[in-house]
Amino acid sequence: MFQNREYKWVYLFDEGKGKGSELLGGKGAGLSDMTSAGFPVPPGLLITTEACNSYYDYDKQFPEGMWTQTREMLGEIEKKTGKLFGDPANPLLVSVRSGARISMPGMMDTVLNLGLNDATVEGLAKLTSNEKFAYDSYRRFIAMFGEIVMDVPKENFHRVMERVLAQTATHNDNELTVEQLQEIITAFKRIIVSETHGIGFPEDPYEQLRMAISAVFDSWMGRRAIDYRRINQIPDNIGTAVTIQSMVFGNMGETSGTGVAFTRNPSTGEKKLYGEFLLNAQGEDVVAGVRTPMPIEKMKESLPEAFKNFTECCDRLEEYYCDMQDIEFTVENNVLYILQTRSGKRTGAASVRTAVEMVHENLIDKEKALLRVSPEHVDQLLHRGIDPKAKVDELTKGLPASPGAAQGKVVFDPDTAEEMGKAGEQVILVRQETSPDDFHGMVAAQAILTARGGMTSHAAVVARGMGKPCVAGAGAINVDYNNQLFHVDGRSICKGDWITIDGSTGRVLLGKVPTVEPTLDKNFETLMEWADEVRVLKVRTNADTPHDAKIAREFGAQGIGLCRTEHMFFQEERLAAVRKMILSENLAELHSTLAKMLPFQREDFAGIFKEMDGLPVTIRLLDPPLHEFLPGHEELLSELSELKTSLQNEQTMQTMDSTLDKIYEKRRLLRQVERMREQNPMLGLRGCRLGILYPDLTRMQVRAIFEAACEVQGEGKKVLPEIMIPLVSTAGELALQKQLVHETAEKVMGEHGVTVNYTVGTMIELPRAALTAGKIAEHADFFSFGTNDLTQTTLGLSRDDAGRFLTHYLDKKIYEDDPFQTIDQEGVGELIKIAVERGRAVKPLLKMGICGEHGGEARSIEFCHNIGLEYVSCSPFRVPVARLAAAHAALKNKVG
Ligand code: PEP
Ligand code: MG
Repeated sequence: MFQNREYKWVYLFDEGKGKGSELLGGKGAGLSDMTSAGFPVPPGLLITTEACNSYYDYDKQFPEGMWTQTREMLGEIEKKTGKLFGDPANPLLVSVRSGARISMPGMMDTVLNLGLNDATVEGLAKLTSNEKFAYDSYRRFIAMFGEIVMDVPKENFHRVMERVLAQTATHNDNELTVEQLQEIITAFKRIIVSETHGIGFPEDPYEQLRMAISAVFDSWMGRRAIDYRRINQIPDNIGTAVTIQSMVFGNMGETSGTGVAFTRNPSTGEKKLYGEFLLNAQGEDVVAGVRTPMPIEKMKESLPEAFKNFTECCDRLEEYYCDMQDIEFTVENNVLYILQTRSGKRTGAASVRTAVEMVHENLIDKEKALLRVSPEHVDQLLHRGIDPKAKVDELTKGLPASPGAAQGKVVFDPDTAEEMGKAGEQVILVRQETSPDDFHGMVAAQAILTARGGMTSHAAVVARGMGKPCVAGAGAINVDYNNQLFHVDGRSICKGDWITIDGSTGRVLLGKVPTVEPTLDKNFETLMEWADEVRVLKVRTNADTPHDAKIAREFGAQGIGLCRTEHMFFQEERLAAVRKMILSENLAELHSTLAKMLPFQREDFAGIFKEMDGLPVTIRLLDPPLHEFLPGHEELLSELSELKTSLQNEQTMQTMDSTLDKIYEKRRLLRQVERMREQNPMLGLRGCRLGILYPDLTRMQVRAIFEAACEVQGEGKKVLPEIMIPLVSTAGELALQKQLVHETAEKVMGEHGVTVNYTVGTMIELPRAALTAGKIAEHADFFSFGTNDLTQTTLGLSRDDAGRFLTHYLDKKIYEDDPFQTIDQEGVGELIKIAVERGRAVKPLLKMGICGEHGGEARSIEFCHNIGLEYVSCSPFRVPVARLAAAHAALKNKVG
């Protein structure tokens, strides 16, 4: 196909209807659809994504026939517009843009005013009787072309502009005279000659076009495009289309202008036109944030007729696409043109609100509404805000560009942000304005602050897409990159100082201001109810305290899927008891520490049972990899040596004695720690091995569970304990522990004269357990897949150490995804499927769920749905995300 010159690589807008975004890119498909539906779209043509793919397949050569077809189609555009490409008397000018199937805002490059040269600029000036407009367009084109197509650093052009602007009274580029513009053009061309080693700016419009198309294709493999695709899991091989569209001009005087608008507010979802507009300007002025635009409503006063047409178009476009639209438009001499429409990027709050309201407006049905809201959007809704009780020192206020509150150390360049982010530091990226080159820094930062730019500036759009707090256009801020600080109202904030960003209100606060959990509104509840109507998977939570259990239940958890009992020991006095237990040197010591542990275990279990009244609670017996609980060996050695030093300095017998006591005690502890120390604790004395070695430990825990269960049931509540045995690899281990559980449970219930319904099951988190699931099932009432350990042991990948090389594996695409984040379906997933099959072959009604971290991740949830698990369990704040993801899984895999 790619060698076939007859193959169709290029489409006119009016030929593209229904060809779809895979072939024409999102932008191209939209323009084609709009053209066919009669919207005022300037005519143009589209080079397909297939052409881009062929370009990469064949050593960056245009596929045969593509260039000829492009020229022929351009002829059609000439007919439609009555203008000729390269004709000095009546020149056709075009824009060249990229556009993949999936919108990648700011990722790819755009060239405007292509076709201008020394001859056509004069023609344009004569035709429009506007010499200034013509030369202004020309200087913009040369700079853009130089930067995007010929890789000339843009600072070179900025410097010239600044030098000339300094000679004007107002420093406003609208005030430049024709002579000044010509001076700028000459300087720009000279720069290009010197930066391209003599090649220089091409005067031939066809050569300009050919180079621009190549540049769009090339930018598909540029760093920022690759970074964006990796973050958003977009494949590299889908390619970009190229849109070539006849230009219309918003900079033809006071009856012209340009703007960007959303049909609804992209931050809140409110049904009200929301956008920005600039009189006498071209599109890039709005997006780049170079001039501060005015709110869209103001357009009503300056261009009433065009505004009326525009609002009508907005309504029709929303109805046509049944979704909130993000529309770029230009008014040329009072005539409105729609340049682009796409589904508007929105915050989590806006996503939920528009989806729910559009159902009420009968624009979409509930299923569509559910699928419109992504799990990430729900996650975003659960973002933090500034604690209303906190004392704040407000540095300044900017635009509330992307909601959520975050704290971090100020940094001024993306590389430092990335470096510090990788080192685990929280940073806030502060820029005069951002550009796509800053993307990796934005990824690493907790939040973004810019001094310039509006709500549709690069920083705002990208941050919203990433769900990161962003304050944009904080005009009082003056960034001094040289000295690595910013000034605001007489104060200076330096690199490394802490600030807090409130992206929901636009506030910039000094220091680390406390933040609070978000509250959720009625629309959110409605959407969650709809999700619950369609999902099949139940959603439980991983919670270890009554407090977490309460939060999770409020978020809709249908029980606890994993209560890690070792997590109940993280508080200091409890930790001491566990340590003592682990290090016990004899049975008497063990029993005495177990006796100390029992009451607080019972108290916690009772609290959890109360919170989960009527819902199942899976309690896992102790599974502490010992290194998480023992004092560090190195630490003890250094403490011992410090004590020895201080002994030499003691002045009195009394203090010497006391230090000696401490030394003996430390030595004893050191000996014990050395006795228990393991080279590989993750595969050491943990899981059910502990309970098998120390049956009294199991007895103590089961006693605590059942004493609590009897007590809470006695208060009239419904208690459904499920006792879970960890890290089982043979049926024998489970059988032994199960027997202990039964004996102890019966004993305690007998003592209380109460019967509690309970079950005993196991984690499946080792490959052997998955493979022998049939045998294990004979002793189990349920299975819960521990995909954290199952991933660790199946991939031979340490949970603690993999981070160091995982990024490398991801970069090299050895792993498509981080297997600790999303289930490795080919490996770990296969083991789970085997276990499900073999377990159910023995016990068809065996209850099965997942409690590894994957239980809160959308793709893993879909996998769990597809293999017929009963529930997923995840951390409390992921519960709503999992509810929605479970609904998506059910909708996407609907039979019929
Ligand atoms: C697991 O291994 O997936 C699991 C849930 O247990 P933990 O993370 O506590 O080892
Ligand atoms: Mg585990």
